[in-house]
Amino acid sequence: MADDDSKWLEGVLGAASGEAPPPDMTNARCPKCGAQEFARISELYPEARYRIEDGESSDANRVGGMTDAEIVREFAPPARGSAVTPTVFVLVLLAAAAFYIYKHYGDNLGQIAAVAGIVITVIVFLTRVRSYSDKYYHARTRWNRLYMCRNCGQRVAG
Ligand SMILES: [Zn+2]
Repeated sequence: MADDDSKWLEGVLGAASGEAPPPDMTNARCPKCGAQEFARISELYPEARYRIEDGESSDANRVGGMTDAEIVREFAPPARGSAVTPTVFVLVLLAAAAFYIYKHYGDNLGQIAAVAGIVITVIVFLTRVRSYSDKYYHARTRWNRLYMCRNCGQRVAG
């Protein structure tokens, strides 16, 4: 019962902090070579980066047949998209449209068009932010659950 409670709490805390608890790989076997030694990508990646930054990386130092440089290139963590670029794009388009309406149809319609443009821009921005953070959350969860066979380099989702 106490175990169940702490598992539940870990789940809640994990969800709240955006990190799921690591999957249990103790009994997992590599589907390719049958080895039982796995490296967690979310640990492998920063380790490889530190070795490169400290100048301690060497091509002889391989995990699953990959050099540090290959690991860093291959397993970069997902980045959060920016909602600003699409929003600016929409804003520019709508500002041009509002200006056109103001020029051709006068003050009143121009003002309505400007207000409508601002409202649409805000909606686009909020929708983008929401969609990017959902995508980022899923990509991050996948990345956190990714392992690599230390023997042959086969990737395994935990
Ligand atoms: Zn393997």
